[in-house]
Amino acid sequence: KIFNSELKKTRESFFEKIKNLFSKKSKIDIDILDHIEEILLSADIGTQTTIKIINNLEKRIQKEKYKNLQDIYNLLKEEIENLIEIENVCLETKIKNKNKKPYVILIVGVNGVGKTTTIGKLAFFLKKKGFHVIIGAADTFRAAAIDQIEIWANRAGVPLIKQHMNADPASVVYDTLQSAKSKKKDVVLIDTAGRLQNRINLMEELSKISRVIKKITSEPPHDIMLILDATTGQNALEQVRKFTYFVQISSIILTKIEGTAKGGVLIGIMDQFKIPIQYLGIGEKIQDLKVFDGKKFVNCFFE
Ligand code: GDP
Repeated sequence: KIFNSELKKTRESFFEKIKNLFSKKSKIDIDILDHIEEILLSADIGTQTTIKIINNLEKRIQKEKYKNLQDIYNLLKEEIENLIEIENVCLETKIKNKNKKPYVILIVGVNGVGKTTTIGKLAFFLKKKGFHVIIGAADTFRAAAIDQIEIWANRAGVPLIKQHMNADPASVVYDTLQSAKSKKKDVVLIDTAGRLQNRINLMEELSKISRVIKKITSEPPHDIMLILDATTGQNALEQVRKFTYFVQISSIILTKIEGTAKGGVLIGIMDQFKIPIQYLGIGEKIQDLKVFDGKKFVNCFFE
């Protein structure tokens, strides 16, 4: 089954509980919605989205006069499917559809979420799909960040453009784009420093980077990807809120999903921000990146 092992923990915390609930009950009673609510909250879906699901269920149960438990079960599945149904084109198609090279992706996210690892994985993934990728080490804030991204670029077998620590990130981006243009690269991945605690600097840095990109390619960045750590649960939702406040996030990669019971947070993220989740990080190795598919995700829980 797709996602079965990666989502094992989330599955146990969410689906197994739902399944138990429905198997214990013989008819619809007044507290079934309370029980569902409790399970959704404990699965890290978030208060706002949980309330929305419960309200919708309540309305539909009354309006459509549902009588049996299986109907409620199907309704719940439908509601969750609707919430995470966001129109999304897969990254490879977006890259191919662009007639002008390169396709520029800015990667943002706070430290520790798995940003560096994910850039390595994404470079490897795209390279395997036949694209020529180059990485720009524009997180110049920490020396270790440059070393780490270099290790991952080597692992993925793609070139890296870097400067020294504390160099101007926009200057690294400039070099990277020049190199991408002259070597006819298809995709540019730009690592950025995720200093949310210093919002003004981060905002200035990102807008300066965007200006350089626009100057060289005549277009703004094609994608701004936010990396989030699924194990942080509700905190991940908070990070989306903060980042979207000053930058237009176009897609999300949710990492460390395989080790956590908090995978339900992705339902809350997609519902509240309507930003598609593009990939899931499912381990520490370079191939541990999986394309996210909402339908398959829901089916994995409600078979
Ligand atoms: P950064 O500070 O955001 O650049 O984070 P790193 O890429 O250095 O990763 C931080 C830690 O998370 C490392 O120990 C990685 O191996 C680990 N990590 C990254 N992605 C995943 C994932 O999908 N699953 C698991 N289990 N660990 C991950």
